[in-house]
Amino acid sequence: MAGNWKMNKTILEATNFTKALKNSTNDVTDVDILIFPPFTALYAVNNEIKNSNINMGAQNIFWELKGAFTGEISPLMIKDIGCSYVLIGHSERRQYFGETNETVNKKIKIAMEVGLIPIVCIGETLKERKDNNTFNTIEKQVKECLMGLSTEQATSLVVAYEPVWAIGTGKTATPEQAQEVHSFIRKVYKKIYNSAADKIRILYGGSVNPNNVSELMNQSDIDGGLVGGASLEMESFEKLVKYLK
Ligand code: PEP
Repeated sequence: MAGNWKMNKTILEATNFTKALKNSTNDVTDVDILIFPPFTALYAVNNEIKNSNINMGAQNIFWELKGAFTGEISPLMIKDIGCSYVLIGHSERRQYFGETNETVNKKIKIAMEVGLIPIVCIGETLKERKDNNTFNTIEKQVKECLMGLSTEQATSLVVAYEPVWAIGTGKTATPEQAQEVHSFIRKVYKKIYNSAADKIRILYGGSVNPNNVSELMNQSDIDGGLVGGASLEMESFEKLVKYLK
């Protein structure tokens, strides 16, 4: 269960949240817990998660290791600060910051080069769904984002299916709609990577909350959740980690 905090929380807020999360989930052994704090809080959060079952990731990286790229953050820096994961191609980055399947592909490759596990976000817009283009869009995204990866690399990353119309809108895909696309992603994987299709983890994201989490997680091809809004409050994130209403 992964919490994407987006551009929220000061260092103090992030530290307090992480302390509380650690206390309330120290008995959880069957769910991997992952948080994505903002860059500025990564160092402090990393100090809190030592000796815990909580993992940490960054919300973005640049596709080079170092150099004259003012304002960007290297995957090496993210690794150095304690991250094991990185979000790549979140729809907000595609929408506001010009991220494309091509830049996502470059970022996945560099992330893997330094040993970070990418969580690669894909998903259709409302227009694409209405025009019956969901499956075309998803297939194109999987193929272009993962282009040139070995079967081993494709198996070790995580895919997050996040329909753009469901992110931050309160409109969740029904469990059936989500399952249908997750199963399709596995089919596309099967065509390209064969056995990796059964091993790949596919998370669902888009207005996941304590009321809909268990139904979504019960779907056979949904392996976890990527959560924005409901990961910001301890009460709801703890429920999500434990699949409680
Ligand atoms: C997200 O940020 O990836 C997300 C799914 O947000 P929300 O849960 O708020 O829809």
